[in-house]
Amino acid sequence: MTTRRVGVVGGGLAGITAALRSADEGFAVTLFEARPRLGGLTHSFRRDGLWIDNGQHVFLRCCTAYQSFLERLGVADQVTVQDRLDVPVRSELDRRDGRLRRTALPAPLHLGATLARYRWLSRTARARVVRAALALGRVDRTDPETDGLSFGDWLTAHGQDQRAIETVWDLIGIATLNAPAERASLALAATVFQLGLLESAAAADIGWSLVPLQELHGDAALRALTAAGVRVRTRSRVREVVPAGDGWTVDDAAFDDVVLAVPPAAAERLAPAGAIELEPGWADELGSTPIVNLHAIYDRVVLGESFFAAVDSPLQWVFDRTRQAGLKQGQYIAVSLSAADDIVDTPVPVLRDRLLPHLERLLRITAEARLLDFFVTRERHATFRQRPGTAGLRASARTALPGLYLAGAWTDTGWPATMEGAVRSGEAAAAALLARRPAERREAVL
Ligand SMILES: Cc1cc2nc3c(=O)[nH]c(=O)nc-3n(C[C@H](O)[C@H](O)[C@H](O)COP(=O)(O)OP(=O)(O)OC[C@H]3O[C@@H](n4cnc5c(N)ncnc54)[C@H](O)[C@@H]3O)c2cc1C
Repeated sequence: MTTRRVGVVGGGLAGITAALRSADEGFAVTLFEARPRLGGLTHSFRRDGLWIDNGQHVFLRCCTAYQSFLERLGVADQVTVQDRLDVPVRSELDRRDGRLRRTALPAPLHLGATLARYRWLSRTARARVVRAALALGRVDRTDPETDGLSFGDWLTAHGQDQRAIETVWDLIGIATLNAPAERASLALAATVFQLGLLESAAAADIGWSLVPLQELHGDAALRALTAAGVRVRTRSRVREVVPAGDGWTVDDAAFDDVVLAVPPAAAERLAPAGAIELEPGWADELGSTPIVNLHAIYDRVVLGESFFAAVDSPLQWVFDRTRQAGLKQGQYIAVSLSAADDIVDTPVPVLRDRLLPHLERLLRITAEARLLDFFVTRERHATFRQRPGTAGLRASARTALPGLYLAGAWTDTGWPATMEGAVRSGEAAAAALLARRPAERREAVL
């Protein structure tokens, strides 16, 4: 029997997962990646001797597929996860911090104490937040009608005013859905809050990498793939995927099965007509949302915590990146700005003038602290646009053509566009591939 040949197009987390899983089955796997490196939307670059991530990434304890992926790559010890969810919350208007911190109680009681003390809401508003959280726990996130509704409308209908939305729901929602509540799908929001906060107490403990993302994902993946016998072809932008006999050709190479683990626009372009059962133009319709990161390097330590979230501020989440970057003196701070449509094209000097004063107010920077460097990274297509009504535009792993599969955080994993979703999608594509008998294509054609 000849070895089954699998071509994987795209070397982000989804493609890496599908390639490793297929190689573990003993298949002959080739992975094509357009860029010179693996890791896709999670990568790092060098600047003045430091490692800079394209954007701060965090995960939650409930991201089990992603953590198994790190184990498979042999880098699980390069991340840290909080013992207990603990998010310091700072306001620009008030120097006393608040916290969202869980207790040891089972969900949903684990958040009761922290909400009862939450500084930025009145007592009645806090009680309304608890009632809305319990109602959100009962929303059927798998119902297509739920996906058609706006999270913001739902929150308003459940007694949440603008202040509660800003200081509680958007604090978590913008970072996880890359959209403010008014523009987010209720189904995706319910997924985040149910899986993360309402069903299990430990689920939302936050994890992050202790090393640059390139080292954690791309470089480790290259080692694991090579050890598993996968042929990794970087700098290989695939132009054409066409059915050929019982299999497929990817540019000039022949395969029995192909996984397209590329962003939506590339998937629509590369998949033969009729393979993806959506109306032409679906990738545009799905759309994308940018994330912008501000990077500021100071000559001294200006933040004593790993991160905090901001209220009463145009800034959202602020992270200490000193260790990961390899900075030996001073401190490197990164600010993650999700749902960044309105600033993705704003020039760096304008962003600096407009946003740095907010950062320095939040950091309570003293006059002596000197800013040594300030720069900006922009990811225009960071996630698909997670607005109401997108569930029907997220294709499944299996296409209409036997032997052709899709993967990517944008496919119909049920998860928002996250690293967890990307890994799950790669697993789903590999499972669909494994479930097919190689003769099926011939039978389908005859
Ligand atoms: C700034 C930023 C912050 C984020 N923060 C978080 C976070 O905190 N937590 C979280 O869980 N998620 C976060 N995400 C989302 C997460 O990074 C993505 O969901 C995930 O990495 C997507 O992986 P993927 O494999 O589906 O797609 P991609 O990473 O987009 O991989 C697709 C790959 O296909 C390649 N490709 C495209 N066309 C071709 C072609 N023709 N031939 C060959 N190769 C091709 C691309 O070069 C790319 O490497 C963030 C994303 C960004 C950008």
